[in-house]
Amino acid sequence: MSAEHGFAPGPDFERRAEIDLSAIRDNVKRVIELAAPATVMAVLKADAYGHGVLPVAAAALKAGAGWLGFAHISEALVVRDAGITAPTLAWLHTTDAPFAEAIARNIDLGVSGWELDYIAAAAKQAERPARVHLKIDTGLGRNGCPPAQWERLLGAAAAYQEEGLLRVVGVFTHLAVADEPDRGETDQQLDVFRDAVSLAEDAGFDLEVRHAANTPAILSRPDAHFDLVRLGLGMYGLSPFADQSSQELGLRPAMRLVARVANVKKVPAGQGVSYGLTYRTDEETWLALIPMGYGDGVPRSAVEGPVLIDGRKLLSRGRIAMDQFVVDLGQVSDPTSLVGTEAVLFGGDGPSADEWAAAAHTINYEIVTRISPRVPRLYVEGSWGPKDA
Ligand SMILES: *Cc1c(COP(=O)(O)O)cnc(C)c1O
Repeated sequence: MSAEHGFAPGPDFERRAEIDLSAIRDNVKRVIELAAPATVMAVLKADAYGHGVLPVAAAALKAGAGWLGFAHISEALVVRDAGITAPTLAWLHTTDAPFAEAIARNIDLGVSGWELDYIAAAAKQAERPARVHLKIDTGLGRNGCPPAQWERLLGAAAAYQEEGLLRVVGVFTHLAVADEPDRGETDQQLDVFRDAVSLAEDAGFDLEVRHAANTPAILSRPDAHFDLVRLGLGMYGLSPFADQSSQELGLRPAMRLVARVANVKKVPAGQGVSYGLTYRTDEETWLALIPMGYGDGVPRSAVEGPVLIDGRKLLSRGRIAMDQFVVDLGQVSDPTSLVGTEAVLFGGDGPSADEWAAAAHTINYEIVTRISPRVPRLYVEGSWGPKDA
């Protein structure tokens, strides 16, 4: 356990998200084996999907990740400020993005179109060439250059490269349905990608990296690995597939979300629970209060979210509030002794983030990423959870 990564409470705690850095390392190592000879980029956007960017960056690099990936330049600057010099890419920009600072601090830039002119101007200002990865939209319809404009983008980039303002070092794309391996669109996207790469090579760019794969493609599409794979969800030990668990993929969830039971009390049959009184007790029972709510990132939309208390899996009852929710303990011996015991929402021996995702009609990505800064993070080394993965 370590206090060097910000707020780190000791053994006495009220609520916390424990992050097992040995799980992060083991997940990265597993993907390095799967993806070889491609290099692994650790995707650390959104504060490392809620796990904490600096500890996760250090763990991923220690395990052998070769690159770091972010959406925003501002997120990438955080690792530079911490003295991390590993190759780093940021791919989502606005016209106010700090391009000159990114160039000065050796952050590679994803380019979908308009950014090219801004980056060339910033390179002039920074007095050094930008390192650019051109992004082709092969079908996702989000960011990326449409295939019809690709050759024009290549031409513009070649002119700037001629001027010494930038170097095109990568070509990349992002996949839309890799989490559904039976769908045909991934094949189509990869066809478009291979054509785009060929055109870039024909235009004379000396590419260091071609990259397309996110976690689902890393795990299901070896033909999408190319030179570099962009690993997000899998590094955190979660499965992108509806029909395969973390364990089945050889991954270990890194986050355990736990709070101490804040109150236990006996209530009569017919007791309404939480705002709107959407739940009423069938019979006389004991209710336990869990001090986490949507202010902590526990989704308000969750119905019957699971919680492990004293070895029993129980369900949230009634609405999740900002600070708290309620579980019905039923008949238990010595219920009041449960005040102050651990209630595990997910991770370790508790329920999974996938179960909370199902309860809230969302995906496990969102469950972990939204755990808010209100919840202290504690970094641990394999002190809980399955030891054999
Ligand atoms: C978030 C993101 C990834 C990582 O996706 P996972 O499914 O979490 O592995 C990869 N590439 C891009 C462009 C992304 O935005």
